[in-house]
Amino acid sequence: LDQWEKSSPDSPRVVVLAGPTAVGKGTVSQYIRDNYPQVHISVSATTRKPRPGEVEGKDYYFVDDSEFDRLIAEDELLEHATVHNSYRYGTPRGPILERLSEQQPVLLEIDLQGARQVKEQMPEARMVFLLPPSWEELVNRLVGRGTESPEEQERRLQTAKVELAAQDEFDARVVNDSVPQAAQQIVRLMGFREDLR
Ligand code: 5GP
Repeated sequence: LDQWEKSSPDSPRVVVLAGPTAVGKGTVSQYIRDNYPQVHISVSATTRKPRPGEVEGKDYYFVDDSEFDRLIAEDELLEHATVHNSYRYGTPRGPILERLSEQQPVLLEIDLQGARQVKEQMPEARMVFLLPPSWEELVNRLVGRGTESPEEQERRLQTAKVELAAQDEFDARVVNDSVPQAAQQIVRLMGFREDLR
């Protein structure tokens, strides 16, 4: 954690990464996970079913509706939202507070509704919006990924339009043209000094 301690004391410790479906938030966070192990990436709870290859406790905590209700009732979630009008997603509060108390920077990869809730509760959080190089590229990535049905793709593109319209609410916008470059810009926004890496 040396490089973080040397960065300026008012560096934001919490960065919220939002952005439309298929923009590559997952890929960028994976890159940050692999290359900047100092950053803690929050693991969300969701009522969605795992996709092939997704690992419980690493990609998400996969829970059913009644467990999700319990997490809300016991105030264990920092924020939560129903995304794309279908499944529920939420950020467990405990692990984040724990990491912050250890001065470890935290990255949350969540949707627009969740980003707004975090901003209210943690005004010091830095809000980053990840943009696709173009709308056409976003559509290509979503269709090319092939993990959603055509109806689900349509629903996600509708949400994407709403999310893109809200990008001005964010402190910073990063275009995901190249994953390493986008990741580098994001960790810089966390106060990470590249020269000390
Ligand atoms: P996916 O189902 O593709 O993994 O994620 C769908 C959407 O849910 C993405 O936009 C992702 O950012 C969002 N999401 C993932 N985890 C959370 C969370 O904990 N809270 C909120 N509000 N959104 C989340």
